[in-house]
Amino acid sequence: MVGKNIILFGPPGAGKGTQAKRLVELLSLPHVSTGDMFRYHIKNNTELGKTAKSFSDKGKLVPDEVTIAMVKDRLGQADMKSGFLLDGFPRSVPQAKALDEILRDLRTKLDHVINIAVADDDVRTRLLKRATIEGRADDADPKVIQNRIDTYKNQSEPCINYYRPKGIVRDIDGVGTIDEVFARIQKVFE
Ligand code: AMP
Repeated sequence: MVGKNIILFGPPGAGKGTQAKRLVELLSLPHVSTGDMFRYHIKNNTELGKTAKSFSDKGKLVPDEVTIAMVKDRLGQADMKSGFLLDGFPRSVPQAKALDEILRDLRTKLDHVINIAVADDDVRTRLLKRATIEGRADDADPKVIQNRIDTYKNQSEPCINYYRPKGIVRDIDGVGTIDEVFARIQKVFE
């Protein structure tokens, strides 16, 4: 029986969002995207949204305590019981540790960390391309893009080393078309 508590991990611009949409359809799982949750709050100009915007506009992470509280609330909801796909969380080792605690309290655990690997230069090219296509504020400015890359390297990437000893990391080559990358991800669940 294939476990269904899944993290989709990878640098900004790796195509996590696109792959997540396909994977939740394939596995019939709820999609928990912290980026989407923050964008919803920003659009609706909530207090949480105002806080999130002040960090995301600069390419920085929203502080852990804010992000963890939001995820804890979501994972406690009834539709999470048969599994979930986390997209964009955790993005720091403290978040990864907090997630372990949240799941322990819910009497469940992680099954897979899908790690989409893309080289640094490709990340930059992809983010610049996305900036012109989607017009996302956090993708538009080269300084912000560099911040996002640095933040990934310094704060997010260490999460993978936190998970490796647990034997749940599935490395996926993120270079190729959307279909090619998805086919590699799909193999994990065959
Ligand atoms: P994303 O769409 O996943 O790239 O997220 C957009 C922005 O939301 C990020 O650049 C961060 O500012 C913020 N964000 C999303 N997920 C997290 C997280 N797990 N921790 C902190 N900030 C986050």
